[in-house]
Amino acid sequence: MPPKKKHSKRRQRNKNANAGIKAPSIAQCKQCNAYIQGHRACSECGYYNGRQVTSVEQSE
Ligand SMILES: [Zn+2]
Repeated sequence: MPPKKKHSKRRQRNKNANAGIKAPSIAQCKQCNAYIQGHRACSECGYYNGRQVTSVEQSE
C-alpha cells in the first residue's frame, strides 16, 4: 500500500535527525559489579576485559 500522505519537511527532517540514535548499552563490571557503559573501562575500578587498564584515584 502506498503512503497515504506525504510527510512534511519537519517530520522528514526530524526522522532523519533522530536516525542512528540509540541508548548506550549498559553492562555490569565483572570486578566490582558496578553498572557501566558497554565497551568502556569501569569507572569504579578501572577494569576492562578482566584486567586493569586505567588507574582510579581514591577520593574520600
Ligand atoms: Zn569495576
